[in-house]
Amino acid sequence: MLQITRPRTIKTIVELRDIVRDWRRAGDLVALTPTMGGLHEGHLSLVRAARRRARRVIATIFVNPTQFSAGEDYETYPRDDVRDAELLAGAGCDLIYAPSVDEMYPEGFATTVSVASTTNGLCAAHRSGHFDGVTTVVCKLLNQANPDYAIFGEKDWQQLVTIRRMVRELDMPIRIASSPTVREADGLAMSSRNRYLSGAERPIAAKLNKALFASADHIAHGLPLDRVIAACSKALLSAGFDEIEYLEARDAHTLEPIDNYAIAGESRLFIAARIGKTRLIDNVAIERTGLTE
Ligand code: AMP
Repeated sequence: MLQITRPRTIKTIVELRDIVRDWRRAGDLVALTPTMGGLHEGHLSLVRAARRRARRVIATIFVNPTQFSAGEDYETYPRDDVRDAELLAGAGCDLIYAPSVDEMYPEGFATTVSVASTTNGLCAAHRSGHFDGVTTVVCKLLNQANPDYAIFGEKDWQQLVTIRRMVRELDMPIRIASSPTVREADGLAMSSRNRYLSGAERPIAAKLNKALFASADHIAHGLPLDRVIAACSKALLSAGFDEIEYLEARDAHTLEPIDNYAIAGESRLFIAARIGKTRLIDNVAIERTGLTE
């Protein structure tokens, strides 16, 4: 029977650097997949994508306190080290880096990495300080591990473009790769937070992706953005969502807002909505098949 050994878990920057140095000496490429744990198939797809690019794969598990706003779920965020390690072993991860908060933010830590422009609006408008927390921790993880590749999910598209921009503008010699959103059978984007959904909320949650795909299709076929967005929001609220935080079309790369009739280049439709105490986000491409620029 095939025996899968659990990857080693390390907790310090010194250990991480030693191991990566040895791998590099042996000529191996290294890929990093940052996560906050509470792993699901979406995370594992990133590990597999990393494996396709590099011989050595590191997954980080760090519930980063600085990317949670006041009143968010930092304390209750799902943590299950044993289960996570088993899942990572099955996906081909070589090493788990799970630093403590003190290792990442020693007493007196005073640096923030902040990317402007891609953090105007969308999630940034509803999660104060979130992206500064993300870019600061990802910058540190990339500097600590010094990988050839880092892999991020398209589910968090605003995070992905913000990290790409940070890496480019800070001249970090790391290739950022993205991996498509992994969905449940009914299309709900997998998320560690989906476990907060009650039995009654779960089928309602699946309406989010269906409404989003349908709206992107209507926009692609030339219906006015504002009308599509208003209809989609109304439908989701009457289906049982409590709040639509945003529903907006933006340029896929710059995240600039898009005018009503001026869809051009690659654009995406972004949503965040609340159902009970759960906040769901999703985004899809607006595929303008048959239209010319
Ligand atoms: P998190 O643990 O939520 O911080 O996510 C860690 C990484 O996994 C990020 O790059 C996310 O974009 C990615 N990710 C989370 N959910 C999914 C999903 N359903 N499909 C693909 N990637 C995902």
